[in-house]
Amino acid sequence: MMSVIASNLTVLRDRMAAAALRSGRAPENIRLIAVSKRQPAALMLEAVRHGQTVFGENFLQEAREKKDILKDSVTIHFIGHLQTNKARMAADTCSMVETVDRLKLALTMDGHLARQQRHLDILVQVNVGGEDQKSGVRPENAAELLRRIRQECPQLRVKGLMTMPPYCPDPEDVRPYFQRLRQLAEDFTANNLLGEYGPVQLSMGMSHDFEVAIEEGATMVRIGSALFGPRLAIQTGA
Ligand SMILES: *Cc1c(COP(=O)(O)O)cnc(C)c1O
Repeated sequence: MMSVIASNLTVLRDRMAAAALRSGRAPENIRLIAVSKRQPAALMLEAVRHGQTVFGENFLQEAREKKDILKDSVTIHFIGHLQTNKARMAADTCSMVETVDRLKLALTMDGHLARQQRHLDILVQVNVGGEDQKSGVRPENAAELLRRIRQECPQLRVKGLMTMPPYCPDPEDVRPYFQRLRQLAEDFTANNLLGEYGPVQLSMGMSHDFEVAIEEGATMVRIGSALFGPRLAIQTGA
């Protein structure tokens, strides 16, 4: 019998492909980031068995523990709020940090990577909703942040933008925020602030709104509960 994870993956891949085709996009240009925060490594392994290799984690300690268990069968994107004192560990553990939202964080990672003569893929997180409680650079400050990272952080490869819009029960209400992120990315690309490392990536869309995000140009969707089910109780101190 097919496992729950396997059948969820099949359904999600079908829904992603349908959303892509609806909007005239190629399904292979959209990647599923399996958000495994507060999910056991055993479930991740089950996803790996069915072809999923990229996972999103919000807590660095947890990401590190899972990487130690699953080793090179997985790559991890960091998608949580990143404290500057954890920046080096993020650079060591993750293949991409999606939540760079301030210069100090970028500089800390860059210095660490320079000593190791390594590069790291990152996204700049934009707070498109302008919500006080959310991380992310404000849209009006994003160009300046991109400019400074380009000038001052040669080890970082800015691949694109990420956002976590305000929660709206109806995914249609989230559409304008996804449009906003795409518009920003287009403006930055036109101004040579993005695009030097291949097609510009847009990480947007979660379990309840990923189809709308794909219709608006997402190249990565971050899906947790629709793949793994409900998460374990909140974890602190990570
Ligand atoms: C938890 C989380 C997700 C996944 O949320 P689901 O609703 O479970 O799909 C995506 N992105 C970020 C930044 C998250 O923290």
